[in-house]
Amino acid sequence: MADLKNKRIITVATTGAWPKKENNPNVPLTPAEIAEEVYACWKAGAAVAHIHVRDKNGNAAMDYEAFVETVRLIRAKTDCDIILNLTTSGGVNLREEDRLKPFSELRPEMASFDCGTMNWQHTTIFENNPPFLEKLGTLMQEKGVKPEIEVFDAGMLYNAAYYIKKGVLKAPCHFQFCMGVAGGIAASTKNLVFMKDVLDEVAPGSTWSAFGVGKGAMEITYAAIAMGGNIRVGMEDNVMYRKGELAESNAQFVARAKRIVEEFTCEVATPAEAREILGLA
Ligand code: ZN
Repeated sequence: MADLKNKRIITVATTGAWPKKENNPNVPLTPAEIAEEVYACWKAGAAVAHIHVRDKNGNAAMDYEAFVETVRLIRAKTDCDIILNLTTSGGVNLREEDRLKPFSELRPEMASFDCGTMNWQHTTIFENNPPFLEKLGTLMQEKGVKPEIEVFDAGMLYNAAYYIKKGVLKAPCHFQFCMGVAGGIAASTKNLVFMKDVLDEVAPGSTWSAFGVGKGAMEITYAAIAMGGNIRVGMEDNVMYRKGELAESNAQFVARAKRIVEEFTCEVATPAEAREILGLA
């Protein structure tokens, strides 16, 4: 096994549930657009692609056929070995069965596990109630899909500790610190250090990644790399490349992340190396 301590995994989240063409005309929404973007991001250095799909009008959806087509188009690029991570939260007020079906049927290597309910952006409830999370974690184990445990505040880390103890989540786990979403913890270095301290306390031996939404985005990228973590970038989290400048593409974010990792004298993990780090191999 290669020395993986110096490797950093770049995850790209190309689409998410909210940005539309009017927010940034470059956000990929159709299966064909998403597949092309994922391929470009893989070439630029991403090892994991976190996938959302939209309905025919570009709205947030857990549209099973769109997942099928998106995964098919990515897998048709046979040189591309990027790890697929399908969302289980493609919006709010979704039916549970629609959230569970894509990963159950398509068996990606990873899928998201949002470890608690929150007030989302002061507008609505992002619901992940306890019975649903138990069902989700259990089904992911049955299907051999590794959860990416998304945590929006420290309380969700304690939820994860409970589910690990209960066997709903199986250690070693992989966490994504989602920071800067209104209703969750703000995106700052101080908060990232705190989240990492809690993680070390409640789920030692876990792997982790982080991103910041909005003005804290770059700070979290730099801090996570310095702290030994992995990073996520992409238009799900930020449609601006920097203040006042729309992103040209998701690959533009990945290329910058790779430059930062390398300037820090670390290396970007290939998908094969990421599989070893995440225990997928
Ligand atoms: Zn997502």
